[in-house]
Amino acid sequence: MTKLTQNIDKLQNLLAGFDDTGIQNLIASQSIPAASAETFATHSPVDESLICQVSKSDAADIDLAAKAAKDAFPAWRDMPATDRKAILHRIADKIVERADEIALCECWDTGQPLRFMSKAALRGAENFRFFADKATAARDGQMLPSPTLMNVTTRVPIGPVGVITPWNTPFMLSTWKIAPALAAGCTIVHKPAEFSPLTARILAEIAHDAGLPAGVWNLVNGMGETAGRALTEHPDIKAIAFVGESKTGSMIMKQGADTLKRVHFELGGKNPVIVFEDADLERALDAAIFMIYSLNGERCTSSSRLLIQESVADKFEQELVKRVNQINVGHPLDPSTEVGPLIHKTHFDKVTSYFDIAKNEGAQIAAGGCRVGDQGWFVRPTLFTGATNDMAIAQEEIFGPVLTCIRFETEEQALTLANDTDYGLTGYVWTNDITRAMRFTDKLEAGMIWVNSENVRHLPTPFGGTKASGIGRDGGDWSFDFYMEQKHIGFATGHHTIPKLGV
Ligand code: NAD
Repeated sequence: MTKLTQNIDKLQNLLAGFDDTGIQNLIASQSIPAASAETFATHSPVDESLICQVSKSDAADIDLAAKAAKDAFPAWRDMPATDRKAILHRIADKIVERADEIALCECWDTGQPLRFMSKAALRGAENFRFFADKATAARDGQMLPSPTLMNVTTRVPIGPVGVITPWNTPFMLSTWKIAPALAAGCTIVHKPAEFSPLTARILAEIAHDAGLPAGVWNLVNGMGETAGRALTEHPDIKAIAFVGESKTGSMIMKQGADTLKRVHFELGGKNPVIVFEDADLERALDAAIFMIYSLNGERCTSSSRLLIQESVADKFEQELVKRVNQINVGHPLDPSTEVGPLIHKTHFDKVTSYFDIAKNEGAQIAAGGCRVGDQGWFVRPTLFTGATNDMAIAQEEIFGPVLTCIRFETEEQALTLANDTDYGLTGYVWTNDITRAMRFTDKLEAGMIWVNSENVRHLPTPFGGTKASGIGRDGGDWSFDFYMEQKHIGFATGHHTIPKLGV
């Protein structure tokens, strides 16, 4: 029996668990269907087979969940932080216990290869541990004495928060938003993407089993335009933590305007990897390939635009073609698979449409540019060369395993090209000239930049984008800036005269 067939066997047993009721909402610790009893079907991108039915919620279900989150808020806020910390660590423990199950379900639901998803489940546990340990300091503030006042600051949780997540690495991303919210003392309503509901349900169950009080974490499934929209408009929800497309972020801002929602957005990207002639080209090649073709290229931080210096471009592109053609596309549960299927047909149609767009724009397809097989949403890893920065393939987020190569002559040109985009999430700079690296990163418009490295997350550092790539930062203490309110209290020392009126 191969590892693949073993994994498929294990998965079948896990999926049987969803057969009876499908995926229901979890509100105030009760597993319940949508009030309308409506459901929608979720399919695997691997073979388009039905996975199960999922509750199709609307405003009534969101209202129930928001009320549960509101009712649970005071007790959760006032619970000693050490107790909150202990519960969050228990959630992490249980994620680790169920990591294999989470990874298999995530692969089947999203098409992501197991080699990456087994780590993503553990990253989720790490997110909980990191914020669990920060919970005890979440309310910390400053003492800012003035001649007349003993001024102190403290932080208080903002209230019930709506968390709206996308379908790319949904498990890890959900933990990334939910763990700091809970550590801060907020309660949550989570609306996961309609295309990847499996692991959101497992995660909510884990939280329940870890002893999280009823109503602190509520899961509501459904479509963005109905359930998602109702969450952003609900008056009891004080803030929306959103990860998804830039245009959805813009809609959410409008929807939340009437209730003055605080928003935190992690949005799209068209991130440049800039390779100078003096770089360690072997390492740059490994990193450029990893950052666009891992996670099926369905990754907000992917290096989807390669800016390569003319003097080394021919050789670099030749090596790229060789390596890209060798990438192993296959079943996501096969441990040797490097790229799995795209999430769904509409996304597959979008990604593959760029093959013709590239040709019509005058670029060359140096590798890939075609579908793999006739079942499931598999595409060959693709490389466009001979592109210019004004082409759609250089400006639009394709969100698939597709890399666009653009050549430059000078550092100045490279900077202009790198910044000539609506987005500003990440940038990757390859050079062995430290002065150039400093000069370049100072002017590069991106929220996160790595020099001579792929994206390696360190949880205490700020994560987020500029321009159309986002608003706000996560990570370290920055997460608490969003989930908490700053409060100032001034205690008079009795030394000042209060102005008298009407005397
Ligand atoms: P999407 O915007 O289509 O959907 C994201 C979520 O928003 C889903 O849960 C969806 O149901 C919901 N939604 C849709 N319309 C809504 C509305 N009107 N009101 C409220 N909720 C609504 O995004 P997607 O296609 O699922 O995800 C891919 C996108 O996410 C890419 O653009 C990617 O770059 C981005 N992303 C960004 C980051 C980051 O950290 N910057 C991380 C991951 C993904």
